[in-house]
Formats: sequence, structure tokens, C-alpha cells
Amino acid sequence: MTCHPATDSFGRTIDYLRLSVTDRCNERCLYCMPEGYRGWAQRADHLDADEIVQVVEAACRFGFRKFRVTGGEPLVRRDIVEILRRLRDLPGVQTLGISTNGTRLASLAPALRQAGVQSVNISLDALDPVVYRRITGGRVETVLEGIEAALSVGFEAVKLNCVLMRGINEDQLHAVTEFALKREMPLRFIELMPLSDADVLTAENFLSVGDAMQILETRGNLIPDPDARLGFGPARYYRFRGAATRIGFIGAMTSPHFCETCNKLRLTADGKLRPCLGRHGELDLLAVLRAGGDVAGVIREAIARKPENHQFAEDYQPGRPMTAIGG
Ligand code: SAM
Repeated sequence: MTCHPATDSFGRTIDYLRLSVTDRCNERCLYCMPEGYRGWAQRADHLDADEIVQVVEAACRFGFRKFRVTGGEPLVRRDIVEILRRLRDLPGVQTLGISTNGTRLASLAPALRQAGVQSVNISLDALDPVVYRRITGGRVETVLEGIEAALSVGFEAVKLNCVLMRGINEDQLHAVTEFALKREMPLRFIELMPLSDADVLTAENFLSVGDAMQILETRGNLIPDPDARLGFGPARYYRFRGAATRIGFIGAMTSPHFCETCNKLRLTADGKLRPCLGRHGELDLLAVLRAGGDVAGVIREAIARKPENHQFAEDYQPGRPMTAIGG
């Protein structure tokens, strides 16, 4: 078994695994968890800590080096700190990050840092408490406390993510940007993807990264920073003149180059390996794991099945929401 990262049929190096450790969440984002979703009702958390560690071990043997734990909300899992500590102890794990809504960071940030988590991505779709509550059902004040806690414990990177929604948080883009600039936190704006059939995912609510840039450019010119690579995702980075902070734009729907550098596989909360976020095909890794089968073989097959492009702009039919797939 090679330890060099694998290459897919389109020459892309695949060395990044995004792991959803739960589809539960303590928020209800309009675009992420459709009303009535109860995926976790079958089984609270599909993979136990040992199984998650086994999957990551197998991925390391396959040349994966970068891991991001997500959900749902990963910090609602009681054993999350222990899981992260065990992952960090695996020799093949070079970088370990989490994506979180930030609501539990105020209390958990020190333990996460101690467990060896290097980077934290925090969702922040609005600063106005009313708009924030409308989008997520939660309290922005709690998240802001979480952000300050994350900044204070010395993670290597703390970044913000903001999903773009016309008519919903369009008027928040400047405020979120100023917040990020003031704290020198990299910020990424993300185009809404039609993963589920939630009402918010309509053409009217779609705001492209191009339009978001136009809104932000009323503040000053955004200067491209093509060499900036913060994390391992598909963001294109810019800076305002005189500012060090990078603002990234993730044009999942409008960028023709979005998939060209895709380097990841996703493990869903119920243990399916998903080669592409924007296509439904999945392989049942958990079943193979529980049968004592060839986990590396499933990983190899998922890489082989990675398509060149997502299908969002073609005939993608909304299916499993992001909370189930792992964002
Ligand atoms: N709960 C964590 C959080 O809030 O970051 C981790 C999971 S969440 C699914 C990960 C990211 O996916 C968040 O930044 C969220 O805004 C984004 N997301 C969820 N559904 C999306 C959609 N339909 N289109 C674009 N981004 C989406």
C-alpha cells in the first residue's frame, strides 16, 4: 500500500477527508437542515469513536493527510474532544480542523486546542441578532463569545464562513466583513448550493460571489491574491488595499474552475463515502468496516469514481441535506 497520496482520473491529488461525525445540530439553518429532518432518529451517531479512528487510520495509509471534522454540529457530540485527540495522535494526520457554528466554542475552545486541533472554521451568516436568528434559529451573541474564545487560545487558524443569500443576509455582508477585518480573521463567502429542497434554495435567494464582490467593492477595491491558499478548499482570495486579512469567495455554482482543484472525499454522518458533494453517488464504508472488510478498497473505489465536475448546474435533484452529508 502506497503512502503517497492517490491521484484521481483527472490528475487531482486526493488527500483531504471531510468527516461528518453527526447529523445533529443545535441550530436550524434555513439552507442546511430542512424542516422536519430527523436523520439522527434512526441512530444518534452512526459511527462510534473507534470506527471514526479506524476510517482515518485507513485513509492515512492511503495517503490522506488533511482532515476536517464537521457535521451537523460536531461539538454537540459528547465524545468530540476525545475523538479529535485520538485523531491528532495518528502519525499520518498532518492537519486537523473542525467546522462549527461556534455556539459551544466559548466552553470548548481550550479543550479543542489542547486536543491538537489546528484550525477552526466558524459559520457567521449575519451579525445582526434578528437576521442571525432568522437564518439559524440561534443567538449570535453566543457565537461571538465562541469566536473570541477561539481567538484567545492560539489555534493556527480561525476562519469565518458566510453563506450568501439574496434578500436574507445581503445587508450583512459589510458588517461581517468589518468584523473579520477588525480581528484579522480570514473570511470566506460561499454560494448557496441546492443540496436539499429547503424553501430558501431558490433562484431568487441565490447571490453569486460576483454580486457579493460588487456589494463589498463599495468599500474599496478588492485586490486578487491568487497565491493565497488558506486551508485546502476552493476559495479565491482577495484583500482590500492596506488590509492584511484575506477575503475568500467560494463560487460553488458560478465558478467554471470550482472542481479543478478538488482534493477531497466526504464521509457522511451515516458512514457513506461520497466522492463529490454535488453528485449523489456514495459507497457504504460503514457496512464494509463492520463486516471487517477492505476499507482501503472502498477508499480506492471512491477516488476512482470521483467525477470531473459537480452536477449542480445540470440535473442535480435535491437530496440529502448538508447536515447529513457534512459541510
Ligand atoms: N455546523 C457546522 C457549521 O456551522 O459550520 C458544520 C457543518 S455546516 C453543514 C458546514 C458549512 O456548510 C457551513 O459553513 C454552512 O453554512 C455550509 N452549508 C450548509 N448548507 C449549505 C448549502 N446548501 N450551500 C452552501 N453552504 C452550505
